Amino acid sequence: MPHSPPAPSSCEVGTKAERRAAFLTGCRAATRRIHAPIVDLAAARGHLNPRGLGHARAFSDLGSLGQSSVGFDTLGDYEQADAMGRAPWGGAEYGVVQSPEADAVCAKFARLHGGAGAIVCASGLAAIAIALDAFAPKAVLIPDGLYFPAWRYLSETGRAELLTYPAGASGEEVGALIREAGRRFAPADTMVYLEAPASGTFEIPDIAGIVEEARRAGIRTVMDNTWASHVRFRPLDHGIAIAVQATTKYEGGYGDTPSGIVVARDEGDIARLRRQLRVTGHGAVSPQTCTRLFHRVDSAETRLERHAATAAALMAWFESQPFTAGILSPAREGSPYHVRFRQYFGAGNSLFTVAFDGALPAERVHAFVDALLLFRVAESWGGHVSLVLPVHPRRDPASSSKESLPKGAMFRFNAGLEEADDLVADLAQASRGTLL
Ligand SMILES: *Cc1c(COP(=O)(O)O)cnc(C)c1O
Repeated sequence: MPHSPPAPSSCEVGTKAERRAAFLTGCRAATRRIHAPIVDLAAARGHLNPRGLGHARAFSDLGSLGQSSVGFDTLGDYEQADAMGRAPWGGAEYGVVQSPEADAVCAKFARLHGGAGAIVCASGLAAIAIALDAFAPKAVLIPDGLYFPAWRYLSETGRAELLTYPAGASGEEVGALIREAGRRFAPADTMVYLEAPASGTFEIPDIAGIVEEARRAGIRTVMDNTWASHVRFRPLDHGIAIAVQATTKYEGGYGDTPSGIVVARDEGDIARLRRQLRVTGHGAVSPQTCTRLFHRVDSAETRLERHAATAAALMAWFESQPFTAGILSPAREGSPYHVRFRQYFGAGNSLFTVAFDGALPAERVHAFVDALLLFRVAESWGGHVSLVLPVHPRRDPASSSKESLPKGAMFRFNAGLEEADDLVADLAQASRGTLL
């Protein structure tokens, strides 16, 4: 159904919360449910889900309630659990290491990925850091579009020498880099790290070619699979040893499950990951987060279908606008990565990046973003609320990526679970007087 009342324009009077309330009266039920009650971001200190607003709060009173001390009747029972790092009723012998809820989440994700086991950490970034630290590589091959906080972790800790390949690299390009690394580093001290598609700009490398080169060289492969989630891609099925996923995103789906998982194909690797988790104490994920994650992951596939369909509708709208210089998404047929997209992922997700006409003054693009009423300016993605954020690609100038990036301002959109036509109406109202 089309948007009924005239959409209020961005320059109308009233606070943003008031203008959002007025706009939402014309939106369809699913959109209103997601955005009700109207959150005044200033009053809620920027929280999109203030207390009492959760749509899928699941918490078991039978759970561990996140307690640190786990009690034992006898010293013998305790000593046995301490030696194994496991309590007889699930979880670890110390609640800070792993709760029974975390155990359940790990078992579920290991199954979803077809792995030997999994660990759950307090964030996606913590999962990446644990995966890197557990294997302590001296050299890591990384894509130039690497998720920025992962790159920052690697460069600020100086944990390994970084060898950069183009985010859309061929197997041969990475093969050449592997041979270069091989002159100075043993295969066991080297790691090939993949992330596909790349954050913000969505290049897709030749995953099969890279994995084959790494396999021949005897080098461990790790993949950040956050974009795809297990729904779109299972790295272990493609010969990758370790899959990392920020379950903060699609697996939780509502922006309230800050967490990350690492799944390993081999028993030996999972043992090293578990040990690293224990040594660092990063496994203290709250039982509430674990419980949400455990249930929500079941609807990830359904939500992804809707996210992808809505993103396609929004991209079609942007494509028809004179201020759009380009759209970055491998789901689009015109993308240089579309063939690999079909080969590996098959279908899209909530994300796409819009490059605005380079001739437009930056203030006008900013005014457009500020005038949006349903899209919130916020980091992260994969949740029920539509989001927008500037993209500043951090690409190695020496890299030979296939696609030269557009010159205008770029913004990444996360298509939430609202109704697509309401979101299009929001884009249209915000563009009037700002971009048009
Ligand atoms: C968000 C994200 C992460 C990190 O997840 P957090 O839970 O936010 O730390 C890692 N990799 C990619 C590709 C991401 O988008």
